[in-house]
Amino acid sequence: MIRNLHRQLAFPLSLTLLLTLAACGGNGEGDAPPAATQAVVATAPGAADVPTALPSPSPMLTPFPAPGEDTSRAEGDPTIPTRTPEGAAPQATTAPAVPPEPVCNGLTLDNPEGPYYTPDTPERASLLEAGMSGERFVVSGYVLGPDCAPIPGAWLDFWHADAAGQYDNSGYRLRGHQFTDANGRYTLETVFPGLYPGRTRHIHVKVMAPGGPILTTQLYFPDEPQNASDGLFRPELLVTMDDATAGQTATFDFVIATR
Ligand code: FE
Repeated sequence: MIRNLHRQLAFPLSLTLLLTLAACGGNGEGDAPPAATQAVVATAPGAADVPTALPSPSPMLTPFPAPGEDTSRAEGDPTIPTRTPEGAAPQATTAPAVPPEPVCNGLTLDNPEGPYYTPDTPERASLLEAGMSGERFVVSGYVLGPDCAPIPGAWLDFWHADAAGQYDNSGYRLRGHQFTDANGRYTLETVFPGLYPGRTRHIHVKVMAPGGPILTTQLYFPDEPQNASDGLFRPELLVTMDDATAGQTATFDFVIATR
C-alpha cells in the first residue's frame, strides 16, 4: 500500500520540482555575478531633490552599471580605488540595528575646512543620486555634548569628493545637511570618497548643537596608505569600520561644545 502511495505521489512531486527549478532559472545566490569594480547607485529621477529620511536598505542601490553607463574608467585607473573584496557581491548596508554605546573621549578635534565648502546645502541623509559612480558607504553615530549626553536636533553638514576625487563646486552633488534624531543619532548614506592629489581619503563635516558653535572637521578612514603622508590627517578622526559589512558601514561619534 505504501509503495502504491509512492507511485501516486511520484509524478506530482517531480512536476513540482521541475516547475520550481524553471522558476529559479537554476541560478541561486551562489551564482551572483562578480562584483563590479565600481558599484553604481541609482535613484529614481528627481529623488535627490527630496529630503531623505534616515536610510533603509535601499532599493535604489544596484551593484551593476546602468544601461549605457561608462564603467571603462574603473578598469586599471589607480585614482579610483576599489574597496569591495574580490568576488564578493555588494550587499545592502545600513546603520546598525542596535546602535553601539556612544564613544565619548573628550571634544572632537577640529580640522581645516578646505577650499570646497558650499553653504545652504539641501537637507538629506542620503547623498546618493541617479547615475552616481562609487561604492556605497554608510557612516552613523551620535552627536554628544561635553557631558556625553546625546544632542537631539544637532546639525551636520557633510561634503566630500566623488569616487574620482572631484568636488562639485557648482551644485550640491555629494553635499547635504541633516539633523540628529531624538536619540542624538545621525546616519549618512553616500559613496566612498575618491582620492585627489595631496590628500588621503576623507569626508568633510560641520557639526553644531542647537545654539552652539560650529565644529568644522574631517573624517578619515583606517588602513589608507595616504594617511601617513597627509599633514591634515589625525588618528582621532578615524571612523570605526564595521567588519561585519566588509567595511561598507562605519561609526563615528562627535563630541561638541554646546555653547
Ligand atoms: Fe577635501
